[in-house]
This record gives sequence, C-alpha cells and structure tokens, in this order.
Amino acid sequence: MINSKLPNIETSIFAKMSKMAADHNALNLSQGFPNFPSDPALNALVDQAMSDGYNQYAPMPGDFGLRMEISKKIETLHDRFYNPETEITITAGATQAIFTIIAATISKGDEVIIFTPAYDCYAPTVELFGGKIVPIQLKPPFYSVDWQQVADMISSKTKMIIINSPHNPSGMLFSKEDMLELQDLAEKNDLLVLSDEVYEHIIFDGNVHQSASKFEALAERSFVTASFGKTFHNTGWKMGYCAAPENLMKEFQKVHQFVVFCVNHPIQKALATYLKDENHYLKLSNFYQQKRDFFLHLMEGSNFKIVPSKGTYFQMLDFSEISTENDIAFAERLTKKHKIATIPTSVFNEGRKDFKQIRVCFAKTDETLAEAAKILREL
Ligand code: PMP
Ligand code: GLN
Repeated sequence: MINSKLPNIETSIFAKMSKMAADHNALNLSQGFPNFPSDPALNALVDQAMSDGYNQYAPMPGDFGLRMEISKKIETLHDRFYNPETEITITAGATQAIFTIIAATISKGDEVIIFTPAYDCYAPTVELFGGKIVPIQLKPPFYSVDWQQVADMISSKTKMIIINSPHNPSGMLFSKEDMLELQDLAEKNDLLVLSDEVYEHIIFDGNVHQSASKFEALAERSFVTASFGKTFHNTGWKMGYCAAPENLMKEFQKVHQFVVFCVNHPIQKALATYLKDENHYLKLSNFYQQKRDFFLHLMEGSNFKIVPSKGTYFQMLDFSEISTENDIAFAERLTKKHKIATIPTSVFNEGRKDFKQIRVCFAKTDETLAEAAKILREL
C-alpha cells in the first residue's frame, strides 16, 4: 500500500470552491481567473504558430525568441540583464517554476521561511522534498512584515525565504525598504530567495513593483517567477517563466528537463511576438485599478470592512460585522444560499487562523462585478 507523502494535504481550496460554485450555480469570484477573453490578436498568433508548424518540442529552456523578449523586458523595467541563453526558462505556469525551484534546492532538514497567508503550493512542495516550513504570520488589515521577527526566525538550517509581492490573497506590496531588509538578511545568512512575482503588472495607485531582480545582491541569490496567464488573461494556458543567475538556473534546468522537458511550443512562439508591444503589459495596472475602484464604489455602504487592495486582482473583505461563523462556513453559506463563491482565507494561514476575511477576485466583467456587489451589499 502507499504511504502518503502529504498526509495532511487536502484538495486545493481553488478546486473546491470552483466546484462548489458550479454545483450551486453561483457567481464564481473564488479562484483567481478572468471571465473575459484572452486577446483575439494573441489567440491568432497561436493559430498562426500552429499553422507554421511549431507543433513539436520546443528547446528545453524554451523558445529563444521568447527568452530574449523576457530578458529585454526585465532589463527595461528593472535594469538587470538576464542572459537569455543561460538565465531564463519558460515553464508551465508559475506553479511548475515554483515546484522546480524547490525540487532543485531543498533537501531533507532544510528550513524555508514563508509568510502566511501564503499561496497554497509552497508548503506542500517544500514538505515533499523533506524541507521544513517556518511560517511567519502576517496580520490584517495591512499584512506588513516585521523584519526583526524574520531575523529572529532564521536559523543555521534556513535555506530559503519565499516572498510574493504583490501578495495573494492580501493585496499587500513590498516596498523598496522591505526589499532592502530582505536583501540584507539573505546576504548575511547566505539564503536563497524565491520571489513569486506573478502579479508584477497589477499594481495600483502609482506604486512601483519592487522586483527581486532590481536589487543586485538579492538578484544574485533569487529565483524570480512570473505567469503569463495572469498578465494576458489566459490562466488556462499555464505559461510562465523563471529568471535566475546562471549558477542557480543550471540547477533549475537539471530538474526542469525531467519534470516537463519543455512547454507548449506554439504558445511560446505567439508570446514572443506579443511581448514586443509593451502596451500589452504596461496597461494592465490601469485596467485592473478601474475594476477594483468600480467594485469598491459599488460596495460603499456594505457591512464588510474593506482596505483597498494595492495590487493583484484580489480584494479582501472582512465580514466580522456580518457573521460570527468561521470563514469556511461563511463562504460555503454564501455559495449555496446567496449564490456567490469566494475564498475563505484561513486556509492560507498558520494553524488555519481565522481573521474573518474572505477573498474576492475582481478580474471579472463590470456586469459580473455589479451582480456580485448587489449580493454582497445586502448581507
Ligand atoms: N503564485 C501565486 C501567488 C498565484 O496566485 C498563482 C496563481 N496563478 C500562481 C503562483 C500560479 O500561477 P500559474 O497559474 O501561472 O501556475
Ligand atoms: N492563483 C489562483 C488563485 O489564487 C488559482 C490558481 C489555482 O487554481 N491553482 O486563486
């Protein structure tokens, strides 16, 4: 018989809530994905790449044209050069990049610091490779990091810190000062950093994305991951990438070649062309800020307590003035009775601590957001 390697892991909350939404015919603002289409011009480029015959394996690290465009983009935005030959790999979404980074670097007994609420794939992947998670719980409403606390949690076994800014689910951002504190700790303690930057292009109110690649000493020890699905409205394509200095990327690729070898070739060809126009990603913050503001405007006068999200396409809603239920029961009731699905955020917290916050995804048409706000305002 099989001994479970992950005895305490349940089906992901995203699978659960999307299924519950479908089963109960509820509006689905739970799992993070847009309900509007991927750009027809990008879809046409994929069709074209298929017609042009790019239907066999891509090069193991990815299409070179796409790696060049990614390299240019990072250099323009963050002033850091990643060699497209040796320092960038195209992955099946950020999830595969994160899995591969952890598989390539974490061994039995290594400690990995994560900030909770944390995206759900980090901890199980670390555990799968024998690592130990050291969680640092961030607190609402601002979910900011106390770097002295982080320093206190570092031990001789600490191997890696995983960060995620803009942060899912809270919408918090790391400032330049946060990144400098992180850089200092990582250097002093010889740590690796996994910087999950899937929401890099969704940042509001004039804030600037503080990529790990912007900071020289940090970039030297960081794996940076990104997701095209988030940026180009096609999460189902599962395309992303990892950028890291050559010595780290070499280890990454040793694992990558045996996890997938390479990823979807025609989509890589299409993305290589599409990325040439920077408007395709530089306009995204504005697009989503309008969605956030539209939704928050509609929610004025509701009984939820709301701190506006600073980035990502998620908004936290505090329901403590509406119900004393735990967030899982509350989210279930909302789905089944009120026909709106959201994410209970305790599942991302240390010890499933319940701060009475649900997460909604506002990557939705204005019509869906209006319908959602109408239901939520009546609670
Ligand atoms: N990290 C975070 C913080 C996410 O929200 C997501 C969800 N998309 C991922 C990683 C995974 O991205 P992908 O869908 O590209 O695998
Ligand atoms: N990143 C998406 C979210 O946070 C979900 C991705 C997934 O379903 N695994 O909702």
